[in-house]
Amino acid sequence: MQTGHDAFGFSSQQLDEELPGNIILPITVISVGQLASQISLPVGRSMQVSDSIAIELRDVVKQFGDVVAVDHVSLQIRDGEFFSLLGPSGCGKTSSLRMIAGFELPTAGSILIHGREMGITPPHLRPVNTVFQSYALFPHMTVAQNVAFGLEMRKTPKAEIGRRVKEALELVRLSGLEDRRPRQLSGGQQQRVALARALINHPEVLLLDEPLGALDQKLRKEMQLELKSLQARVGITFVFVTHDQEEALTMSDRIAVMNKGKILQVGTPTEIYERPNCRFVADFIGETNFIDGVVVGRDGHYTVLETPEGLRFRGLATRPLPDHTPVTYSIRPEKVRLLSPDGELPADGLAGTVMTVNYIGSDTRITVRINDRRTIDVWEQNTRSTLDRNEYWQPGEAAVIVCPPDNALVLSE
Ligand code: ATP
Repeated sequence: MQTGHDAFGFSSQQLDEELPGNIILPITVISVGQLASQISLPVGRSMQVSDSIAIELRDVVKQFGDVVAVDHVSLQIRDGEFFSLLGPSGCGKTSSLRMIAGFELPTAGSILIHGREMGITPPHLRPVNTVFQSYALFPHMTVAQNVAFGLEMRKTPKAEIGRRVKEALELVRLSGLEDRRPRQLSGGQQQRVALARALINHPEVLLLDEPLGALDQKLRKEMQLELKSLQARVGITFVFVTHDQEEALTMSDRIAVMNKGKILQVGTPTEIYERPNCRFVADFIGETNFIDGVVVGRDGHYTVLETPEGLRFRGLATRPLPDHTPVTYSIRPEKVRLLSPDGELPADGLAGTVMTVNYIGSDTRITVRINDRRTIDVWEQNTRSTLDRNEYWQPGEAAVIVCPPDNALVLSE
């Protein structure tokens, strides 16, 4: 976690410590499956994403000294949406989240939550809760006491606290562990306590900063599905920070891809993966073949580019591009087809030689050389079960790659 100073004169670190107010504030809980039907939380309150805006960032800038952490970001997050901020380390995701939470104040621009300008509203007066990667549980308190903490602070009647804690723990599948201390729990269980604590007071928005980062791969995948299911049940807006593209694709309704403090693209997982709007997004999300060239014309609704050695490719461009524009052609390895050479080359086909063949279980990854300076990666799904190695492509074999233009993009940035 970064430490900085805000307009209240507190360091960020201090604010976190002074206001486990993530804790003091609203909370709700998560459930899976049948448990949700037994609870009195606002389950299903807005199971669908609505058109109303939960959070808006208007031309927000955040500077730390000379570092521009967030660079003129404008963004609207809808009510009930599972929205992810995705990008490499240092791109400004956490700073954006911390400004929404109120732990940092924007250097310029404004943040609105449900239409209300936040200004310098401190974290504990914002209708949001935050769940951090470091669960920040109170070590000396039991699970139940940790979850109850926010309600205790608000002097909620004892009987109600008991009922809500019970519900919350059922929802995160921790019933029976009420009396344990955090150190007696696994990482996944501690994370569930943090979620229960963050959700029990019914926040309008839950902010999650790499909440699954400390979990091992298997647990992380389980928790991803659980969190997603929970979010759909309780209908709260989730803003989720991650640098893991697969995690963002799995969980999100929409994703904002960030780099160097800017938002490069906002879209659904399919839009981001299938129609990246620039080279950075295409590269950051999934894997792809890139080929540099210049535009040499159009063919119907395709843009045609030519490489320095004279190869031509067709693909979809996001906007009309004049001839000679330098561009990058991008095609995902699973979209390229590999055929045996058989007479004439098909449209969008290129002759090549298989260089390497890597069997990885679900698919086989093949690298094909198409000339002395260029290779193309092709992934073939292993749809048939066979142990016969001769059934797979062999290094040295002649092959034809086909790059369907509807599956290829011509990127100009
Ligand atoms: P990560 O995934 O590594 O957490 P991030 O995308 O969340 O990265 P931020 O934490 O928002 O990125 O940081 C953005 C930039 O701002 C980085 O260059 C970082 O070093 C800088 N930064 C963040 N907080 C502070 C601070 N309190 N003081 C000085 N610089 C900071």
